[in-house]
Order: sequence, then C-alpha cells, then structure tokens
Amino acid sequence: MSSTSPCLTCGACCAFFRVSFYWGETQGAGGGVPDNLTEQCGPLRSCMSGTNNPAPRCTALLGDVGGAVRCTIYDNRPSPCRDFQRSGEDGQENADCDRARAAHGLPPLVLPPLPVEAETA
Ligand code: SF4
Ligand code: SF4
Repeated sequence: MSSTSPCLTCGACCAFFRVSFYWGETQGAGGGVPDNLTEQCGPLRSCMSGTNNPAPRCTALLGDVGGAVRCTIYDNRPSPCRDFQRSGEDGQENADCDRARAAHGLPPLVLPPLPVEAETA
C-alpha cells in the first residue's frame, strides 16, 4: 500500500489471502518482518499472523477494511505484500485485487468499459 493509494481506504487483500513467505524474511533470520507478527506455516515458510485462519486478517493491519486502514509494518512488510499490485497500477488489472475487494463488498478499482449503445435513427 502506498501513501497516495486507494489501498489506504481498502485493505481487503490483507484480510483475504494467506500471506506466506520464505522464513528468511523474518527478523530472527536476518530479515525485516517482525517475528512477533508471524507464525510458522511450513518447514521453510512463515506467514503473517492472522492470515492462516479461515477468516484471514493480518494482525499488522490497522483499521476497518473498506475504511481507513494502515499497514503497521509497511517498511518491513514481507515480499508478497511488496509484490502485490492494486488493480490499475501501471495500467494493469489485478484479478486478485478485484477478488479480495469483492469478498468485502467493494467494487473493483478498474471498472469494465461501459457497453457501447447501438445508435438509433
Ligand atoms: S485489495 Fe487491492 S485496492 Fe485493496 S488494499 Fe489490496 S491491493 Fe489495495
Ligand atoms: S503485512 Fe501489511 S501489507 Fe502485508 S498483509 Fe499485513 S497489513 Fe497487509
């Protein structure tokens, strides 16, 4: 999420996906992701706490999804969060962004083009 991004009034992907990554990204292994916000979810995998639940929500997410939200570890967030692009960023649609938003009752950021109306005489 960037400081000028519509992500700051969304947060849906932080409360939809399991956010897992190589354990070496955690602080205990020399990375930046705070250990106390992660849990082990495989032999060499960590995930953000709260995202490995049936109703995922990252414990680093502050605020209400669809309202004002903030990642409390933005500068130290793991690679899946850094790599995830919102729909419309760089002119590209991201179906996963749209899917996460839809799950929280939010419309896609990139709306489909309006149908062309037939001309009548
Ligand atoms: S679902 Fe899309 S718009 Fe919402 S926070 Fe994630 S990337 Fe941003
Ligand atoms: S670490 Fe931050 S960007 Fe990543 S899922 Fe959690 S709140 Fe969202």
